[in-house]
Amino acid sequence: MLTRKEMDPSLQSCRLCGHKVAERLVLPHAKVVKCVNRNCRLMFSSPQLDSRELNAAYRRLYYPASDGSVAIYENTPEEILRQTFDEAHAKFGPLAGKTLLDFGCGVGRLCGIAREYGIQTRGIEPDACARQIAGKSGGLRVYANLDELRAAEPGARFEIITIWDVVEHLREPWKELQELSALLQPDGWLLLSTPNADSLRAFLERERWSDVTNPTHFYYFTRRSLRSALERSGFSAIDELRFPIRYPGHSIIRRIVNRGLWACGLQGQLLFIARPRMPEPARTSHSQSASVELAR
Ligand SMILES: [Zn+2]
Repeated sequence: MLTRKEMDPSLQSCRLCGHKVAERLVLPHAKVVKCVNRNCRLMFSSPQLDSRELNAAYRRLYYPASDGSVAIYENTPEEILRQTFDEAHAKFGPLAGKTLLDFGCGVGRLCGIAREYGIQTRGIEPDACARQIAGKSGGLRVYANLDELRAAEPGARFEIITIWDVVEHLREPWKELQELSALLQPDGWLLLSTPNADSLRAFLERERWSDVTNPTHFYYFTRRSLRSALERSGFSAIDELRFPIRYPGHSIIRRIVNRGLWACGLQGQLLFIARPRMPEPARTSHSQSASVELAR
């Protein structure tokens, strides 16, 4: 178990807006702090695991050795991805023929589902093992990072970019989000999923909530902090996609409870859609520019 409990001095201010942070939870591997800026409220772990600790945690929790042990954290069930694409189809029209980039595609499950809808897919996956598996499944073209993609396919722009349960793992997610906004076509959209730090479960379980005990999670987003991070990263028309996901294996009682949680916004998952912000015309007023900046 990781024993470091001291605050990293560099993380005593908000990583997104620079405001002061307040301690919320003490975990075995870190503390959870929250920005006091009411326009931000970013929650994050401090300190972050270093690269060696992080790789060890990923191997232990997501990619156990081939000794029969089971990954503690599993991928999103395919049924949930299908329901999400169905919802996107209903909201945005036919998806067939569109181009999609899945950032953090893992072994390529989301891209596989997307292809069922006639979508042309590309993936980004830093883990070599997962990348190899993804490349073998359906001939998905997968790059290790965005630089590789830009070098191999200069000028590529996508109609859909997905970032599914990935943003909470990134060290400074607004950097990658900004790069992704530049890779979207002007009428394209980002689909983002992340655990909901405003969920009933997070509220009840506090430091036992599995999304804070997971040491590979560096950020715990709420609606407000996710919106702030997306605005900061060059997105506009940010909207929550809220529909009652039917989780496979849930009893009728759990389905009813789950439907109630989604209706109240207390569900376990945040699903957001956002569009790339268009370059502002030269005569844009100062107040419009200021509206996308976080108040300091
Ligand atoms: Zn902040």
